[in-house]
Amino acid sequence: MKRSRKIIFVSHCLINANSKALTSAKHKAYYEGIVEKILQNDVGIIQAPCPELMYGVNRPPMNKEFYDTPEYRKCCRDIIDYLIGLYEIYSESRYRILGFVGIEGSPTCGVSTTHITVSGETKKVKGKGVFIEELEKKCMKEGIDLKIRDQDDIDELLRV
Ligand code: SF4
Repeated sequence: MKRSRKIIFVSHCLINANSKALTSAKHKAYYEGIVEKILQNDVGIIQAPCPELMYGVNRPPMNKEFYDTPEYRKCCRDIIDYLIGLYEIYSESRYRILGFVGIEGSPTCGVSTTHITVSGETKKVKGKGVFIEELEKKCMKEGIDLKIRDQDDIDELLRV
């Protein structure tokens, strides 16, 4: 059997930059260098759905407070339930789940930093996006030890 039995979850836009808010995409199609690194380590990729697509593909970039609503958090939790279902299927069969890769600075998927509005100005601050907050809450509640890192910290997840 040739399976590596190694899997990683990633934020949707890591392998489909088309989902990003208009003007936010710095990559034509995917995060070059990061995706190759994952594949070169024989790790299978599970792409999480993009919660912000709830606001369409032509949405402008918004800060965290825009997304910090009960409706949006519910959308994130529904996606997370789906992902945790997959996590359980693989982990019950002793596959190694390396972690979840978020997107630095995102109001939704940021792990170490996010963007908020301060006195009418957009500021990048330490903190997590809405989806990552909900993911951490779910993992804590279920006792799931899932490492969560931004894309630039991918090496910490691949070091197994
Ligand atoms: S919500 Fe997450 S997956 Fe969607 S574009 Fe933003 S960072 Fe990427």
